[in-house]
Amino acid sequence: MSPGQAVHARDGALHIEDLSLDALARRFGTPCYVYSRAALTSAYAAWKDALAGRRATICYAVKANSNLAILGVFARLGSGFDIVSGGELARVLAAGGQASRTVFSGVGKSAAEMRLGLEAGVRCFNVESAGELERLNSVAGELDRQAPIALRVNPDVDPKTHPYISTGLKKNKFGVPFEDARTLYARARTLPNLQIRGIACHIGSQLLDPAPIAEATAKLLHLVDRLAADGIELSHLDLGGGMGIRYRDENPPGVAAYLAPMLARLEGRHEELCFEPGRSLVGNAGVLVTRVEYLKYGPEKNFAVVDAAMNDLARPALYDAFHDIRPVAPREVASHVYDVVGPVCESSDFLGHDRELAVEAGDLLAILSAGAYGMTMSSNYNSRPRAAEVMVDGAHAHEIRRRETVEELFALEQTLP
Ligand SMILES: *Cc1c(COP(=O)(O)O)cnc(C)c1O
Repeated sequence: MSPGQAVHARDGALHIEDLSLDALARRFGTPCYVYSRAALTSAYAAWKDALAGRRATICYAVKANSNLAILGVFARLGSGFDIVSGGELARVLAAGGQASRTVFSGVGKSAAEMRLGLEAGVRCFNVESAGELERLNSVAGELDRQAPIALRVNPDVDPKTHPYISTGLKKNKFGVPFEDARTLYARARTLPNLQIRGIACHIGSQLLDPAPIAEATAKLLHLVDRLAADGIELSHLDLGGGMGIRYRDENPPGVAAYLAPMLARLEGRHEELCFEPGRSLVGNAGVLVTRVEYLKYGPEKNFAVVDAAMNDLARPALYDAFHDIRPVAPREVASHVYDVVGPVCESSDFLGHDRELAVEAGDLLAILSAGAYGMTMSSNYNSRPRAAEVMVDGAHAHEIRRRETVEELFALEQTLP
């Protein structure tokens, strides 16, 4: 199994920590997300160690996986959080996270969400537009509070990742253009209910090369110094998330090596740091376990039709993303090349193309590296109840989200009288 994977083979049978995926599937049913607490803890420790001795806050990006148990594990480890909605703020608070260690990102914060953030006392609003500055100032005024802010600037560096997950280019909707930042900071300084704290950027996701983020940091520092010359002192730098993981044959550098060129540029600086890792904390800590319903052999393609689908794990359909797929237990049958597909009525409903697998109908498959942007992007398309989620902790398994029932899917609906 590739490095960093929570899942490992024992006598050929896949396990997470001390439990076999086979036993977990029999107990909790399929499809089922299974996470490893130890893998979450060690991913967090890697970040913590890489930042040891610095004034730095790790703010886990909640959108990668927002299950309360996962947030709770990170909260207990001392993590802060990066949120993009009032819903995510409510989750953080429900899981025992601290608002004072939470940054509020996102291009479309509503007035109601700003109020929630202000009342909870979030550490910083990462503001993404001129309009948002004005709105936040007036909402804070109504509540008679000061809103701590950073501007999310767009450093226009190419993160060399998939276009759908690159966010720091001029053509992206995120952040404010680099050229506009000084004007906007000057405007923010005149607004009475805002407190300028820092500057933020987030250039993309699944980044494997440390150079783009180091380049973005250098650009940010240049801007910070020009702002200081304008009389605007910033006390923190939020360098976003985006560190990549291994899905297939990628060789991510490891947190320390990933951060090294960036930290070198920060030598001698006084600013406090903030990072917003999502995928790198949870991606390889989880798998999606699914059962083969049918094997179909055709003239051009063979299909393994499984009980998980694009509604459970959207990344293949959405980004053509690769997830390794492994049989949960070894089988003495001939292997064939299959497209692994779900039951949803869309041609884009696939989990993997052209995978050589030795399987029979009824067997279990593990879809690896499914801990990030798996369950959080799931839907009920085709009226499919969402999968169960299970956290393994040593020899114990906790059902951290039970499988939805069909009745729950239409519980909010009514027929006409
Ligand atoms: C999505 C996002 C993150 C997390 O990105 P990962 O690639 O999962 O590390 C961090 N910050 C912001 C602002 C984001 O939008």
